[in-house]
Amino acid sequence: MAFRLYSTESGKTEDFQPNCPGEVRMYICGPTVYNVIHIGHARSYITFDILRRWLEFSGHEVNHVQNFSDVEESITRRARKLGISPEATAERFIEEFFLDADELNLKRAHAYPTYSGSVPKMIDIIKDLMDSGVAYESGGDVYFRSDGGKKFGRLSHTDLQESVAGGFELPEGREDPFDFVLWRKHREGERFWDSPWGKGRPGWHVGCYAMSSSSLGECFDVHGGGLDLIFPHHESILLVSEAHTRMPVCNHFIHNSFVTLGRKKMSKSSGNFVTVRELTDKYGGGAVRFYVLKHHYRAILDFDGSGVEKSSEEYKDLKRKVEGLRSTSGGNGSRSEEISMRIEQAESRLREAMNDDLHTDRALVALLEFVNWAHDEADGFSKEDAERALQVVDQFDKILGLF
Ligand SMILES: [Zn+2]
Repeated sequence: MAFRLYSTESGKTEDFQPNCPGEVRMYICGPTVYNVIHIGHARSYITFDILRRWLEFSGHEVNHVQNFSDVEESITRRARKLGISPEATAERFIEEFFLDADELNLKRAHAYPTYSGSVPKMIDIIKDLMDSGVAYESGGDVYFRSDGGKKFGRLSHTDLQESVAGGFELPEGREDPFDFVLWRKHREGERFWDSPWGKGRPGWHVGCYAMSSSSLGECFDVHGGGLDLIFPHHESILLVSEAHTRMPVCNHFIHNSFVTLGRKKMSKSSGNFVTVRELTDKYGGGAVRFYVLKHHYRAILDFDGSGVEKSSEEYKDLKRKVEGLRSTSGGNGSRSEEISMRIEQAESRLREAMNDDLHTDRALVALLEFVNWAHDEADGFSKEDAERALQVVDQFDKILGLF
C-alpha cells in the first residue's frame, strides 16, 4: 500500500511522491520566539515529526528544516517588558523551544534558519520582484501586487473578492487592499536593515520563502504548518515563489488542525492557551505526546484537562507493561506460532494506519492491543518470545516516539 497524504491544495488524500526518489525535502514554519510554546504549536511540531519518522521508516532520506521567526513586533514588546534586547529575547526563547522539543522527543531538524540570518537573500528576492513589476514601492514600504485578490484561493479555496463584496477600506499606501507587505519601513524600536528602499525589514511571507528556498532549493516536497497559516501566509509564499522562479515553492502543502480550549482556537495573542511546559512538568513529555497522537492530525483537538489526565494514566500503564516485558526472564513454555501471527497483525495494522494519511490514533490502538495481549500472556512466553514482542514495540516506537 502506497503512502497517502492529504493535500491542502487538491483537498484530497493522494499518493505521496517525492520529487527525487528516496529523498524528501520538508520545511516547517517555526515559532515566533517571544514566549514558550503552547500545546497548539506543539501539535504542529509533533505532526511533522511523525511525518518525518514515517518517511524515514519507509526508506526515505528526509531533509527537515524549521525556521525561527526572530524579528517581529511581539518580540520587541516582550523585550521591553523583560528589560533586555530583542536579540537576547529571541535567543532566550529559541533555547526554551529546544527544552520543550527535547521533552516532547521531537527529532532535531537538520537546519534552523532564522529570519535575521536570511535578510540579504530576502532583499535579493524583493529586488527581483520589483524588476519584474509584480512589486511596487510606496513611502518606504514595498508591496506585492495581488491582482485584486484574484491570485489568492488555491489553498484556502475561498473567493476573497466575494468575501469583501460589502466594501473594504484601502490601507494607506497600497494600490489594492489584498496587496501584501514585502518590505516594511523602519519603526522606532524595531530591528532594521539597509535596503534600496531605505531602512526597514522584510515582511513575513517573503521571509519564510527565502529561508525555505535557500535551505532546500526551489520546489521542494513538503511545506507544513497549522491550518491558520494557509491564508495569508502560505498563499502569499506561493505567489512570491511563482513570481520569482515560475515554480511553486513546494509540491505538497500539508496542514494540521487546531487545538481549541473551551471550543476557541488556542493562540498566544489571545491569551487562550496552555503551555507545553505546564503539561510536561505535570505529566512528562511522553504522556503529552501520547495525548496529542490519540487524535488524527486533521481533526480538531479540543483540549481538556480530564482527557490529558486519562491519557497520562493509559500511558503509564502502557509503559509499565512494556517494562514488564523487558524484564521478563521467560519460562519453559513457548507461544512462538501465536506470537508470529500477532506480530504480523500488529505490523500490518501499523502500516495500514500510517500509510492512510498518518492515522496515529489507529496506530496507537494497535500498539495498546498488542502490548495488553503480550502482558496478559507473558507468563507463557520463552525469553525469545518476549524479545520478539519487544522488537515490535520498538518498531512502533521508532514511528510514534513515545518512550
Ligand atoms: Zn512560515
